[in-house]
Amino acid sequence: MYRVRAVMSFGGAHNLRNYNGKCENLHGHNWKVEAYLKGDSLDETGMLVDFSVLKKRLKEILDTLDHKYLNDEVVFFRSNNHTSENIAKYIFTEMKETFGSLTDRVVVWETDIQAAEYWEND
Ligand SMILES: [Zn+2]
Repeated sequence: MYRVRAVMSFGGAHNLRNYNGKCENLHGHNWKVEAYLKGDSLDETGMLVDFSVLKKRLKEILDTLDHKYLNDEVVFFRSNNHTSENIAKYIFTEMKETFGSLTDRVVVWETDIQAAEYWEND
């Protein structure tokens, strides 16, 4: 199997719903996002997916989140709390629209020491 990844970040603000703690207050993060693709065959160039294609799509997705107030400026998060877990799911779902079954997993780091992952079908 082959796996490739791109790593990018975006900044945004939120205050978690249904949460008792300091994250219920308005605050911001610079989330770091790792997006992985996986497959068992390469194209004639010897690539799983061209890194430039992967990076372009990931940037497009992160641009929908960058410098947004996640609570109400992103439709997905009006009905899904914008935890790192759900941010990973949102990015994964968007990636899957482009890369289909090559979409492997998405890791979202909300600080240097804690991250959440989303994937489907191991
Ligand atoms: Zn937060």
